[in-house]
Parts: sequence; C-alpha cells; structure tokens
Amino acid sequence: MMSRYDMYSIRYPLLPLKNVVIFPRNVVTLLVGRTRSIQAVEEAMSRDHRIVVVAHRDASVDDPQPENLYKIGTLAEIVSIEHQQGGNIQVALEGLSRVEILQYDGPRPFYTVHAEQAAERVTMTPEAQAMVHHTQQLAQRYQEAKSTFSNDVMEMIQSIADPSHLADLLTTQLIRDASQRQSFLENLDPINRLEMLAVHLTTDLDLVGLEQRIKDRVREQIDKNQREYYLREQLKAIHDELSGEGGNEMETLREKIKQRGLPTEIEEKLRKEVTRLERMPTVSAEGTVVRNYIDTMLALPWGEASEDNLDLDHAEAILNRDHYGLDQVKDRIIEFLAVRKLTEGRGTMGAQILCLAGPPGVGKTSLGHSIAEAMGRKFVRVSLGGVRDEAEIRGHRRTYIGAFPGRIVGAMKSAGTINPVVVLDEVDKMSSDYRGDPSAAMLEVLDPEQNHAFTDHFLDTPYDLSRVLFIATANSLAYIPKPLRDRMEIIEISGYTEHEKVEIGKRHLLPKQVAAHGLTVEQVEVPEKLWLAIIRGYTREAGVRSLERQLASICRKVARDIVRGKRSTRTKRIRLTPARLEEYLGPQRFGFEHAIGENQVGVAIGLGTTEIGGELVPVEVAVMPGRGSLTITGQAGDVMQESARAALSYARSRAEALGIPADFQEKYDLHIHLPEGAIPKDGPSAGITMATALISALTKRAVRADAAMTGEITLRGRVLAIGGLKDKTLAAHRVGIRSLIAPLENKRDLVLIPDKVAQEMEFIWVENMDQVIARALEFAEQPAEIDPSLQEQLEPRPQPPLADLPELPVGDAIAD
Ligand code: ADP
Repeated sequence: MMSRYDMYSIRYPLLPLKNVVIFPRNVVTLLVGRTRSIQAVEEAMSRDHRIVVVAHRDASVDDPQPENLYKIGTLAEIVSIEHQQGGNIQVALEGLSRVEILQYDGPRPFYTVHAEQAAERVTMTPEAQAMVHHTQQLAQRYQEAKSTFSNDVMEMIQSIADPSHLADLLTTQLIRDASQRQSFLENLDPINRLEMLAVHLTTDLDLVGLEQRIKDRVREQIDKNQREYYLREQLKAIHDELSGEGGNEMETLREKIKQRGLPTEIEEKLRKEVTRLERMPTVSAEGTVVRNYIDTMLALPWGEASEDNLDLDHAEAILNRDHYGLDQVKDRIIEFLAVRKLTEGRGTMGAQILCLAGPPGVGKTSLGHSIAEAMGRKFVRVSLGGVRDEAEIRGHRRTYIGAFPGRIVGAMKSAGTINPVVVLDEVDKMSSDYRGDPSAAMLEVLDPEQNHAFTDHFLDTPYDLSRVLFIATANSLAYIPKPLRDRMEIIEISGYTEHEKVEIGKRHLLPKQVAAHGLTVEQVEVPEKLWLAIIRGYTREAGVRSLERQLASICRKVARDIVRGKRSTRTKRIRLTPARLEEYLGPQRFGFEHAIGENQVGVAIGLGTTEIGGELVPVEVAVMPGRGSLTITGQAGDVMQESARAALSYARSRAEALGIPADFQEKYDLHIHLPEGAIPKDGPSAGITMATALISALTKRAVRADAAMTGEITLRGRVLAIGGLKDKTLAAHRVGIRSLIAPLENKRDLVLIPDKVAQEMEFIWVENMDQVIARALEFAEQPAEIDPSLQEQLEPRPQPPLADLPELPVGDAIAD
C-alpha cells in the first residue's frame, strides 16, 4: 500500500468535515455542498483521487481556519462522485491511513496540506494477540446480546488479526460521538484502543445483563402474582362451589348488610369488615373469624322488638293454665308485672330482676316461660350452671382463632328481638376461677345503669340489653354472690305436697307426656290411688321432675303395648293397675313406711333443708367404754359440731334428773354419727335431735320412731327457732311421719304449710329440751322431777308439770 504514493512529496487538497471522522479502510458517502469543498474534490479527482479529510474542532464554525481543525486526519481515496441537483456532489470515500497535517498552503481557492502518515506502534506480542482474541470474544457476546453488527461485519471482526484494523473497524461500528471517534483516530496505540473498546463492550454488556436481569425479575414477579391470583381464584371457585353459593359472595354480603336496616355505625363497621374479608384468602382461619363476626352481627336483633302485653288478667290466665297451685308465687309475679306496667320498666323498681329460688322441678323455668308468653315476648334460656369463665358470659376477643360471643349475646341472637324474656338458670351454680369472675360480668348484664351498653368482647361494640326482662333461677340463695342477690327480687318456691303433686301430675304432667308420646288422654288411665303409689314408691323429691320422668316412662310402655297390639289393647286403652305399674317401672324404689322403723336406743330422726328441699337427717349415738371423748362423724359442719357439744353439756347438766350416771364422762366415750355421710350437713337445727339421741343412748331408753324433730338447743336446754319449717314438714310428711317436734317460736310458720299437710300432721311445739325428752323417749316410768333450781334457770315462765308432758302437745298443737 505504501508504495502506491509518496507521503512526503505530495500535497493533498483538504476536505474539512463537520462531525465526521473517517478511519482507514472505512468507506463513507458524503454530500458536499460548499464551493470550496467541491473544488477541492474536483482537484483531487483531476489528480490521483486522494484527498485529506479532517474534522472541525467546533462544528458551529462554517468556514474553518486551520486552527479550527484537528491536527490528525485521514488520507482518503475518492471512490466515486455523483453530481446532484442544485450543485451538490455526493462523494464516496475510502479511508487509507491516519495522517498528521504538518502544513497548510494558502486558502485559495481551497487549502492544500502537507501531511505525514502518523505511524502506529504495533508489535504483535502474545499479549496483543490475547487482546485481539479477547475483544473478538466480547464482540461475539455483544452480538449475541444485542445483534448490533451485520453478518459481514461480524465475519470481518472474527477474521481480522491486525489489532489496528480490528480496533478501527470496531470503532466505526460502535462509537458514534465525533469527538470520541477523533480521540480514537488520534490514539496511535492500537492495543490501547482495543482495551478501550473492550471496556466499552463490557460496560454495554453489563448494562445489557443488568437490563436482562431486571426484565427477568419483573417477568418472574408477574408470573408469580399471576400464579397466585390464579390459584386464589381457583380456591374461591372451589369454595363457592362447595358452599353452593356461587356468584359474588362479597357482593351478596354487602347487599345483605344494606338490606338489614342496621344502625349506621354498625352498618359502617360491617362494611369495613367485608372489605377486610375480601382481601383475605377465603379459607384462612382469620377469614373464618371475620365471616363468623359478620354473620353474628347480622343475626343479632338491633331494633326488632315485640309489643308488650301487660294485661294482668291475661297474664294470670296463662300462669293458671300452665301451673297448678303456687298461688303466692303467681300473686308476686302479677304484682311484679303491675309495677312494670306502671313504671314502664324504668327506675329501680321497674328494672327489678326476678329471681325464682327453690328446689329443682318446682316449675321455676316453666314459670319463666309462662311469663314470656303472657307478655307476648320471646323466651330464651341461658344455663349458667358450671360457668366459671368470664368469657362464657362476655365472649372471646376476636384475636382468638375460634372466638365466639358469650352466652348472653348468643341468647339475644336466638331470641331475635331486643326485648325477650331471658331465664338465667342456676345463677347460684356459677363459680369463679383464674379466668375471671363470671358473676362480675353478670352484674353488668343485670345492672340497669350499665346494661344499655353491654360489652361483649367478640362484638367489640356496645350492645343494648336494657329492654330484656331477666328472670334468674336458683336452688339456693346462699350461693348467690351478695351484690348479685341485692339486684334481684327474690321469690321463694318450696317443694310440693303429695296432694299437690297428684294434682300437678293429673292436670299437667300426664297430659303433656301423653301428647308427647302420640297418645290421647283416654288411652292412659291412672286410677286415683295409683297416683300416690307412683309418687311414694318411685319418687322422693321436692319438685315434680322425677314424677314427670316416671310418667314419661309409663307413656313409653303404654305406647309400646298399644303398637304391638299386646294384651287386651283392642280398645287401645290401658288402665294402670298396681301390677302393671310394677311391670312398667320396676319394683318400688322407696318404701313409704320405711322411715318409721322400730323405736331404737340412740337413734333420733332430725330434719334438715338442702338445696333440693327438706330432708331427713337421722342421728345415731353410740356409747363405748372410754374417757369421755366426743367424736362426730358424717360430714357435720362447724355449726353442727358446736351444737353437738351444747347438746352434750345439756345432758351433763341434767344428768341426775334424767337418770344418767353422774360419772358417765369418766367411763364412756361418745360417738355421734350422721349416716349418709356423703352429704355435707350443717346448721344448728339438729341440736335437739342430737341431744335426744345422746340422752337415749346414755339412759338406754329408746327414741319413739314415729316423730321427727328439729330445733336449736342452748346450753341450758332452751329450744330456739329454726328455718325452713315448711320444707322440713313436707319432707317428714313425704316419708310418712306424722308427728313433728318443733320450736314453739316456729308456730307462726304454720300458715305457710299447705292445709292438707297441716291437717294430717301432729305438731308438738316445744320451748325446752325437757319437753322434747318427755315426748320423744319411751319411759317405763316417769322421769325424776326436775331440780327446781335448775328449772328457774332454764325458764322464767311457769312450766307444765312433767307428768303431763307426753300428752300436752297432742291435739293441742293442731288446734289452729
Ligand atoms: P325447675 O326450673 O324449677 O327445676 P321446671 O320448670 O323445669 O323446674 O319444672 C319441671 C317440670 O315440672 C316442668 O315440666 C314443669 O312444667 C312442671 N311443673 C313444675 N311445677 C308445676 C306446677 N306447679 N304446675 C304444673 N307443672 C309444673
């Protein structure tokens, strides 16, 4: 190539270029318009077609002076020229070599320059070769990533071994900016140029990689989201399919909330919950809680109320229709309703809460039911027996998985109105432990000051209970916490007499059971005397619950026999006979006469009250050789133990008169036992019974078994009043005992005892222990005279002569 021209002797026309840098072996087509430039091209064409091209330092200068031009340019050969319209010419040039412009000749009509080839420093060291190779590889990768080069160019890149050639080719392909191209042109170290190109390629590639990675990442995320979305939708579809709902569940819910007519703030709250629910996976645990919450809120009554019927005659009629007897209770209920009517349920009197207290099966719950019916209100029952956790009343916070509202809100939900009658069964059976005190929560429920905004943890919004009529029931008032008891108006219901039970059975229980078993009243005939047989032989209770069970059992058997067409059931009627009763119910469970056994030494029959009504409490005393110790067994409480000691002291003080050996305490041990030890017993009312049994054991005189007794004893032998005379009388009567020794002070309670029972019982009213002994013990002969000095201590009032005592109470006591 070098031989084709002499670099040193020849001057070349100069073609200055704006923004164009031409490299050796680079073919470029230019449009030339300036007269001076056209003339330069024409000059070159007239000679050897060679021309020097050089770039402007500053593209804005139009007619550049030598100082406006770079020093390094390119010697080029004009490949072709083409005249264009308007005097322009299109020139195709091929770069030949880098030249340094050494000298400018005068500017007219164009510059000619004296230029010298700029010699490149190339030595083909192994490093240079490695650099060439490396650059080629980079170019290859670059091509793979960006497809920048044409196939021809790519082939050339791969085949060029000359570093300068390779660098110039890549520069023309990669570098666009004119000043950068100029600096590549001026750089005479081809290896260095390759290095710079390699950096350029790598940076670009990194950018490409980065771009790619970002793209990949974005695509991945999109994919993932899409996948999740898709799965979730699928799940929803499955869920909808399973629950048979279909359609847009959330929209349905929203619509429901709208239609429900809720207070605004509640509606707003629920709307928010639906939005929350929408964002949750359908089958998540949290979703279930929210769903449950919305359902509960929707099901709760917020304004729905039934209209009260406070017509007292109507109420009375219903109470009488459903319940036999209970006259005083019914009167109290009617009074209660009357007050409620006048106060319109407001004020302390109007907001009173009824508490029906009494043994099981006396109709407490069913009275509540009748009150609801009489008032035209919905009825719900909440059983509080065994509740020990405050959350059972007040609900669980919704942060718990599986949280649910408390029993009160649950009751409101099933009532469906804001003013139902709610029977709180067994308020006395609540207990508290570490989980909080349920009775504190109950206080809030029952407090008219607070219950208009009762807070259930689950609802998490105040709920109005002020229009609810609460009726509590309890077996024993003793176990109701005092603050709760103070809130309530207590109506005590005691047990039923045999006669009442017969009537209740005939009028209410049997018809109820007969209907429940698909029979008619005509089909089951219970003759008069069999009623007593059922009640005495198969039940022993204050109420009528087990009577009802026995009747149910009879109805089942009757139904069975009629269906089977057994026996003489062609008439489809069964008349109960004693034999059939035994066949149906099995052998009698309780012997009626059983309680009245033989007269025994050291055994006396006392009476107690428990929460299931009155009860017989037999007392046994054994006297054994010993040193005067007193043992009491059979779950006697503290009060009972004290009263045993009082009984013993009385026996000692009266030892002589009663014929008890004076030194009995030095020779004997005494053991008082209360059989049926599993039942705890307490209270002072067994005092006279224990004294009687003790004296009987010490005097070896039998106690008359036909009388039961109850009464507190003082050290001096006075007999003090006791509670629960009615229940005790009924209990004695129930087991067939017809004589009752009781404190005179209790005579005032006689009015409480049903006439029928009172007429059948013999009451022996006593004021002191001597009278008890005179009546209760068998005397072979009259006891010794009471020491007059002691007599004075005992009682200031004149006493009847002892000899008259056994007769005294008989006939006298029943007079009224
Ligand atoms: P409690 O709540 O006091 O334990 P319930 O109300 O459950 O008793 O009564 C048990 C059954 O006895 C019920 O079927 C009830 O109707 C009936 N019953 C109780 N007392 C009477 C009564 N005086 N008249 C009619 N039925 C009664």
